[in-house]
Amino acid sequence: MTLRLYNTLTRSLDEFRPIREGRVGVYACGPTVYRPPHIGNFRTFLFNDLLHRYLEWKGYAVTFVMNLTDVEDKIIAEAAARDLHIGDVTAPVTAAFEADLRTLDIRPVDVHPRATEHIDAMVSLVGRLLENGHAYEKGGTVYFDISSFPQYGRLARIEAQDVRAGAGLAARAGGIDADEYEKGDARDFALWKAARDDDRRAGAAWPTPWGEGRPGWHIECSAMSMQVLGETFDIHTGGEDLVFPHHEDEIAQSEGATGQPFAHYWLHVKHLLVDGEKMSKSKRNDYTIAQLLELGHQPSAVRYLLLSAQYRKELNFSFDGLGAARTSLQRLLDFERRLADAPTRADAPLSALPRLATRMLTEFEAALDDDLNTPAALAALFNFVREANAELDRDQPLDQGAIGAARSALQRADDALGVLALARMESQAVDDEFGSWVEQRIEARRLARESRDFATADRIRDELKQRGVVLEDTPRGVRWRRG
Ligand code: AMP
Ligand code: ZN
Repeated sequence: MTLRLYNTLTRSLDEFRPIREGRVGVYACGPTVYRPPHIGNFRTFLFNDLLHRYLEWKGYAVTFVMNLTDVEDKIIAEAAARDLHIGDVTAPVTAAFEADLRTLDIRPVDVHPRATEHIDAMVSLVGRLLENGHAYEKGGTVYFDISSFPQYGRLARIEAQDVRAGAGLAARAGGIDADEYEKGDARDFALWKAARDDDRRAGAAWPTPWGEGRPGWHIECSAMSMQVLGETFDIHTGGEDLVFPHHEDEIAQSEGATGQPFAHYWLHVKHLLVDGEKMSKSKRNDYTIAQLLELGHQPSAVRYLLLSAQYRKELNFSFDGLGAARTSLQRLLDFERRLADAPTRADAPLSALPRLATRMLTEFEAALDDDLNTPAALAALFNFVREANAELDRDQPLDQGAIGAARSALQRADDALGVLALARMESQAVDDEFGSWVEQRIEARRLARESRDFATADRIRDELKQRGVVLEDTPRGVRWRRG
């Protein structure tokens, strides 16, 4: 079965054909590490994770690259305001981001380039553009000459004469910095920016043949992606706000320098809404993962909710939605437990489970092949859970093979989604915590009995009983089980 992806470049659902048979190179725009990413960013990062997992699920050898933007105007402004080096701003935010990736069980990417470690590649790319006439320098700042690149605007479907208006719109939406465009002729954008005092103080100024300065945000991604994946690669992703100008400019810079096509497929994730509204600091609805955990929510529910809508469809994040995600995950956990506990018999009659499992995986794959349609994939999975539960309700012993087929189909589907594995780890952790609390209470009861304080010992027994724990006195000490 073939994977089809909606390509912003062609505005159509295109069959995915990698450049090299069996191999895929993906570049995802990573976070700007000046403050911890919010759940909106994580909609995009979880989409990347789904894409990463699913390409591997389909058997491709994947090189997945996600950068860290660790030098950029917002970072420098933050460093300048606090009289810090940019590294002092980005190190704690990067550490928190990496912790969030682990919390949500986002698979590690293969290459995680940091912009500050690839300045040489950026300088050389700007140098190539100056040499071949696509760029010009003015007062130490280097601009890309849009008039030298007639294809400019192809990705965003913006005509060259509308670039100024497009830039204005993006700037008002908070997408780009005013100083990115050349004063006077707003059409050209900066590849490299001349150093200011703030940049030098913040350690964000590097020497170049045309003077000291810092890279523009767009050139960072062009340089890092091509350095790792080559001049032409398969897939480039980001949130929908990056289509213009960030990705448009990446294409102009990269193709202007190499004369080769840059990325073949451009995938963009629709912005997350929170309680039906755009996220914003002033509305305080731009939650971080850490904040959600503090409120007692489980990472698996966050992961499930953010993956539950197809990535180009509207998704509204709400606490009700998190609750519903939790319920769905519990159904999967219960089903998994039920399969593990189901009675088996070697000569059991033929069961429908293997057939149901095979059908689910076929439907599941067809759904994800259709531009990663997660709601359809989840529908196939839950349909299977319902039908298999009906089969288990018959209370007939099953043969080990039938149970095995159902368990491995569940596991195989979750290899792509990664929701059940996370929920399982969480419920194990809860069990462990509960278990050690019970052990502590049993020891307290033993000590109370040793000192003949039977009132306390009985109270502890009642307390445990209330929490569903049944104690059994055995010759080898007290055993407990859930009643
Ligand atoms: P940034 O750190 O702002 O560069 O953003 C990191 C990634 O998150 C980019 O791919 C953005 O397009 C994406 N992003 C930003 N806001 C949202 C949102 N509300 N929903 C989904 N993705 C977003
Ligand atoms: Zn980027």
